[in-house]
Order: sequence, then C-alpha cells, then structure tokens
Amino acid sequence: MKIDKALEEEIQAMGDDHMMTSYETPMREDAFDLSDDEKIQSIRKDVANIMQTLGLDMTDDSLKGTPNRVAKMFVKEIFGGLHPDRRPKASTFDNKYKYNEMLVEKNITVYSTCEHHLLPIVGRAHIAYISNGNVVGLSKMNRIVDYYAKRPQVQERLTIQVVKELQKVLGTEDVACVIDAKHLCVNSRGIRDIESSTVTAEFGGKFKNEKTRLEFLDYIKLDTKF
Ligand SMILES: [Zn+2]
Repeated sequence: MKIDKALEEEIQAMGDDHMMTSYETPMREDAFDLSDDEKIQSIRKDVANIMQTLGLDMTDDSLKGTPNRVAKMFVKEIFGGLHPDRRPKASTFDNKYKYNEMLVEKNITVYSTCEHHLLPIVGRAHIAYISNGNVVGLSKMNRIVDYYAKRPQVQERLTIQVVKELQKVLGTEDVACVIDAKHLCVNSRGIRDIESSTVTAEFGGKFKNEKTRLEFLDYIKLDTKF
C-alpha cells in the first residue's frame, strides 16, 4: 500500500513537532460501528502483523500472547477514553457552604499517549475553578482528566478538553488547567532529552485576570506534605 503523496509530505513537514489540528479529538462518524470485541479482534491481527514483519517468531511462548494483550490494552485501557460511554457522569452539588473562593486540585496523575508516536505522556494536571453555585466531587476532576487522557493525544488538546468539560459540568467559564508532563517520544527517542517536560495551560473566565491566574499558580507551587 502506498501512502498518499500529499499526506506523506504533510507528515514530513510535521516532523517531530507536535501539532494539533482541532480541540476535538479527530474521529470518524463510523467510529463505533464496531463493538469493542470486534475492534480487539481486528487490532490483534494488526499487532501480530507488525511483529511478524519485524521478523519475530510469533510461535515463541513469550511473544504469542502479545497481540491479544496489546489489542485489549488499546481498546479497553489506554484508548478507552475514545468511547463516549466512558465519559464520567456529570453530577454536581449545591455549593452549600457558600464557598465562593477558588478551589484547586493539584498533582492529578496524567497517563496519556502521544498521538504522533503512540508513546506515553506522563505528568501532572492541576485544575482550579471558582464556583457559581455548583460544585463537583473532587474525584470527578481526576476522572475527567483520566477520560480525556485515555486517547491518542496532544497535550494542548488534553488541557483544553479538560477545561471545556468542567466548564460544561459546572456551568461556569471560571475554570483553569495546567499540565506539566514528560513525553517519552522526546525523552526516550529522537532528541532523547530525559530532563525536559512540557507545560500547557488553559485559563477560562476569571482566570484570564492576572491576579486570579497568579493566585492559582501560587497554590500549585505549595509543597503539600502529609
Ligand atoms: Zn510524540
């Protein structure tokens, strides 16, 4: 099979630069015509084919289970967040305490996958919002991060998707998210810079004001000890 020439040129031009074309994860209309099990069956053959092409002996005891393991992991785990059925339920509560200050949840673990190399992105997300009457359970923020992280991603898009989802759930623009993450495609291959990490930020509503934004960034710096 020949890669389309225009596409090939586009890929060349993109190189190792991580570009994003849209805030929405680019998906086709027929994305869920196949069931999870049908996808696992199909991807299993694809993974086996890659390994076969690389010259591996697929009858070896250590290798023969890999295609099935990888296919399941793709569909159910690391790309499980592509399926809208897995979107966290949007339940909010009344802000009974009349706490109208900023609420920050920091150091949320991020495990995602770079969509340009299919290698891990590992880091921390920090989220803040100012309630306009609704509050969400704290773990909801972790679940929203995890849901959008479990997709082939670019970090900028992940950051925006988390903010947009929380804005929808909370009914306010006043939501911010900062993500600091290592990309294994940079740390373990290519330029192989183990130390570098990437920071992305999205500030909505009141967080566009410098004072509010700086307050949030100050809270992130707090060194929480237990
Ligand atoms: Zn990458």
